[in-house]
Amino acid sequence: MMGAVMNFINGAFVPSQSGQTINTVNPATGQVITTLPRSAASDVAIATQAALEAGKTWGATSMKERIAWLHRIADALEENSETIAQLESMDTGKPISLSRRVDAARSVANFRFFADYASEQEELIFSDHGAVNIVQRSPVGVVGLITPWNLPLYLLSWKVAPALLMGNTIVAKPSELTPLTAHFLAQTVKAIGLPDGVFNLVHGYGPEVGQAIVEHPHIRGISFTGGTATGKIVAATAAPMFKKLSLELGGKNATVVLEDAPLDEMMDGIVRASFTNSGQVCLCGSRILVHASLYDEFTTKFVKAVNNIKVGDPLDESTVMGSVISVDHRSKVESYIDLGLAEGGTVLTGGTSKEVPVDGVSPSGAFLRPTVIANLDPSSRTATEEIFGPVVTVHAFDSEEDAITMANMTEYGLAGSVWTGDVERGHAFAKRMESGIVWVNTWLNRDLRTPFGGVKQSGVGREGGTWSMSFFSEMTNICVQQP
Ligand code: NDP
Repeated sequence: MMGAVMNFINGAFVPSQSGQTINTVNPATGQVITTLPRSAASDVAIATQAALEAGKTWGATSMKERIAWLHRIADALEENSETIAQLESMDTGKPISLSRRVDAARSVANFRFFADYASEQEELIFSDHGAVNIVQRSPVGVVGLITPWNLPLYLLSWKVAPALLMGNTIVAKPSELTPLTAHFLAQTVKAIGLPDGVFNLVHGYGPEVGQAIVEHPHIRGISFTGGTATGKIVAATAAPMFKKLSLELGGKNATVVLEDAPLDEMMDGIVRASFTNSGQVCLCGSRILVHASLYDEFTTKFVKAVNNIKVGDPLDESTVMGSVISVDHRSKVESYIDLGLAEGGTVLTGGTSKEVPVDGVSPSGAFLRPTVIANLDPSSRTATEEIFGPVVTVHAFDSEEDAITMANMTEYGLAGSVWTGDVERGHAFAKRMESGIVWVNTWLNRDLRTPFGGVKQSGVGREGGTWSMSFFSEMTNICVQQP
């Protein structure tokens, strides 16, 4: 078994105050990898005190110094990209090729991006009526960062980088299902000498540690990525304390295939949008809406492509889809396959692990074949509730008006994609989708300068470039009357 994961508080690796631990399991094998602390409010209190103290000096460093720190962290992570990829695959069950290409690469890129981006920003100064207004960005103070299991270090670093950049100190809690790379980040910042108390990590369960972070009066900002139901609890707890709050929540994203879409060219992208990371990316398209004239051809070609996805051992270089995050989560996803059937759907390929087991993998692994369900009403529960697994539904539409109505039919509004032979038409369609981000003829194509975040029940606030910098700072104005 690998060495135990510890809390990282004030520059030291420590167990929880209670000494209690939780097992973290490799979902592809069912084996326990190691233990992590089961922390409580008292651990959060100690970490917050350390962060408050450290903030007195860290908050007073210059932007230039902090940019240099981000580069140092990026360099150190980059040197260990392969370790990050291996840890992430072990903890999540995702294929090693994906961990390298997406998780490890993007975790480095997040630090690098914010360092470079901040270097390009100019001071905001406005002159009028003989007065000069200088906009000042101060740190928020101690910020709480709470992140989910699907892209563990990718999403944590997406918050840590801008939080440090703007002079904040941090108390972070990763999902208890995936603590390994957060622990590795703590080891990395320790090794390169980031001042003690600037980055603190408290492991444990959401309702215990996460809730304590959100409740702590000295934590002035909360950046949360997770499910909509948890987001509601976070918002209800934080709002009366007037904390800064950023909520990146769930989705039920539409993939829209217009009648002029060149299917052969685009099929690869549509399959990726559906099943990357076993469909456990908040941006995955889980409802495919296809023009009726293309429906039969589309479903035939799509099912053929889905059947070619190699599901298997995450550490095998040729695996395209690994396991889902846990056996419990697989049961939840399978309950939606059963619901889809009960709602009148037809499974075109895939199905529950009992019906169509994955060959050649550990019987204790949380594997599930990619599943496509047709003939469901677009307003059915299966087609409108977030499943967050390798299950997509396909629906036919007759006109663009129908397609828009169907695309906007859920309570969510995180992401979507439109596939067409005419980019102008795709752009016009995208503008009518109630969605924080819409891709036309591409998917998960991210420019980190752009605003990222959902509308409707998919979240509040935006992250990315200047939006992250603004969230992690208090902007004030000093107006100086010129003589
Ligand atoms: P959860 O909402 O269950 O958990 C997210 C984090 O919140 C975890 O660290 C969790 O801890 C913690 N948490 C749980 N309860 C509380 C609480 N009361 N107070 C504070 N924190 C708490 O989400 P999942 O981990 O299951 O992740 C999947 C969800 O994340 C999906 O809905 C997905 O759409 C969404 N997501 C959204 C993204 C976006 O950018 N909009 C990106 C990626 C995912 P613990 O793990 O211990 O329960």
